[in-house]
Amino acid sequence: MMTHQGLKFPFSPFFFEGGEMLVVFDLDGTLTPYRQGSTGPWEAKLLPGVAEKCEELRHHGVMLAIASNQSSRRPRSEIVAHLIWARRAIGARCVRWSTTPGRRKPAPAMILEIMQALGVSPSETLFVGDQESDRQAAESAGVRFAWASEFFG
Ligand SMILES: [Mg+2]
Repeated sequence: MMTHQGLKFPFSPFFFEGGEMLVVFDLDGTLTPYRQGSTGPWEAKLLPGVAEKCEELRHHGVMLAIASNQSSRRPRSEIVAHLIWARRAIGARCVRWSTTPGRRKPAPAMILEIMQALGVSPSETLFVGDQESDRQAAESAGVRFAWASEFFG
């Protein structure tokens, strides 16, 4: 564990060796409790450790964003409400979601859009997720990847 300005940095391998300025998160199972098929009711609740880690990242000038696959069976109003809540909960600068094959992860589209919107390059970006499709999306976008269980662990 490294310290910097008196703060603990459990994520130091990523941020001092890679220099990421942007961390993009998956939503379900990464920031918020996993919901089977992503169609169950959502709770206004972050997983343990998420709020603290996100606050620490923002404190050090790291931009946060969310890229979320969504089910087309979910009402659009509910998707939007969920994502607005999540954006506020972690202080994300940018959110993208999709129900469309070819744009949903494992496609890199949402990650690429977020990097473009925030003016950040792939070498400055880390993607954090809990599914193989997240890892594949990060690889296709040319950004580094971390499993949520390790990132927040
Ligand atoms: Mg997930």
